[in-house]
Amino acid sequence: MQKITVAKGDGIGPEIMNATLAILKAANARIEWEEIEIGEKVYLSGNTSGIDKAAWDSIRRNKVFLKAPITTPQGGGYKSLNVTMRKALGLYANVRPCKSFYPYVNTKHPKMDVVIIRENEEDLYAGIEHQQTDEVVQCLKLITRPGCEKIVRYAFEYARLYKRSKVSCFTKDNIMKHTDGLFHQVFKEIAQEYPDIQSDNWIIDIGAARLADTPEDFDVVVLPNLYGDVVSDITAQISGSVGLAGSSNIGESCAMFEAIHGSAPTIAGQNIANPSGLLRASVMMLNHIGQQDVAELVKNAWSCTIEEGIHTPDIYKEGISKKQVSTSEFAEAVIERLGKKPQMLPAAEYAKDVKLTIPTYQRKKQANKMLKGVDVFVDWKGSNPDELAEKLTKLNSDIKLTMITNRGVKVWPEGFEETFCTDHWRCRYEVENGHPAAKHSIPELLSNALQEDVDVIKTENLYEFDGVRGYSLGQGQ
Ligand code: NAD
Repeated sequence: MQKITVAKGDGIGPEIMNATLAILKAANARIEWEEIEIGEKVYLSGNTSGIDKAAWDSIRRNKVFLKAPITTPQGGGYKSLNVTMRKALGLYANVRPCKSFYPYVNTKHPKMDVVIIRENEEDLYAGIEHQQTDEVVQCLKLITRPGCEKIVRYAFEYARLYKRSKVSCFTKDNIMKHTDGLFHQVFKEIAQEYPDIQSDNWIIDIGAARLADTPEDFDVVVLPNLYGDVVSDITAQISGSVGLAGSSNIGESCAMFEAIHGSAPTIAGQNIANPSGLLRASVMMLNHIGQQDVAELVKNAWSCTIEEGIHTPDIYKEGISKKQVSTSEFAEAVIERLGKKPQMLPAAEYAKDVKLTIPTYQRKKQANKMLKGVDVFVDWKGSNPDELAEKLTKLNSDIKLTMITNRGVKVWPEGFEETFCTDHWRCRYEVENGHPAAKHSIPELLSNALQEDVDVIKTENLYEFDGVRGYSLGQGQ
């Protein structure tokens, strides 16, 4: 018996979880569940994280968590519990298989069978946001080498284990050369270690467009967090319904399994939600805990139900479906078919005793890091960059003002009058001679700023790593 933690969540959560647990029980899954309360009720009781210590203890003790969707209350102050859990438990890989079940579920893409592997802990989801001036807020996009290596390696190992032939990487490194550039660079390095698997790279905009148009050209797709979030919902939806896809969140010690959709409050309590996403997540869980026999039983019974046209309203289509059923009737139909194999859809056959493991991250030799200057961000309500430059040149120490940008566009020297400027100015100070900047040059510059009454809101040091520039240039430079 494997003990697991279960949360019924909010909105349609309890309905789809009850349906899923009834099927698992009828299939004699060798699990015992411990129920925890998370989500809306916990938030509204005054706990801003939506989860209490007893719930954390249960998840960390059992290490396997089957979770229904939850509702994050509107308004400030409530942190996303999903993001917190993925990060706190180190669940770095979010795996979202999206396959069509044509002709039994209506889709424009009968041949699609794509697995989205989304990085789950980093990127803009680091949740580091600041208001810096009256007019400007910012969010920090954090991408790390260990984060990239873990997720990219996971994607290739997944492809190898599940006999998939290609891994595609989606980034926007033509614009974000350092953050998405690192993700792409790591992808190229790791792809070389898997010569048996094809690899290609797409700029996210055209990659996503092609994926939505011809998903059959893609196999496994690995992406940074935010792109993965957006693209996996699109991919699930075009396979037939967002209600069909399940996902796993895998870490080195714990794993969490959930539907990819949310708590669908507008259809909650009506017994019409499709429990398939959560049920298919539970099949991933059964595989994860080594109960492939039960996983096959449940998946085959589900496939029989789908191909017999017994459908919940979200996928019911006149002429294709045979019977429209409620959430609980769908679960009963799956239970009735336990032990049967599908006639048309492929029968599930899961490899036993296989485990996807990736090597522990090995830190590379430390680079030679050389200070070259500093970007000083200034809150200034003026409009003529020449005026600001005159004021800022007075702050020069051994590093000198070389450039001012506004929203990333160079406005001094030789800016355009047409460039729209807000009250947030990046002012770059650099060494002139290519030597390292003295460590005291930055505090000296900031002390000069204080005397000249310049409103500095933040600084970013400029470094070279092993002689390679580690910072962006201004657009137009
Ligand atoms: P949603 O996924 O809940 O709903 C989007 C649309 O899909 C709605 O029309 C809904 O009725 C439909 N839908 C979703 N699941 C369905 C199912 N199983 N069967 C039939 N139809 C289904 O997205 P949303 O409306 O943007 O978010 C609602 C709430 O869910 C929000 O509070 C959000 O924060 C939360 N949410 C939670 C999770 C999670 O817990 N993992 C994920 C996403 C959103």
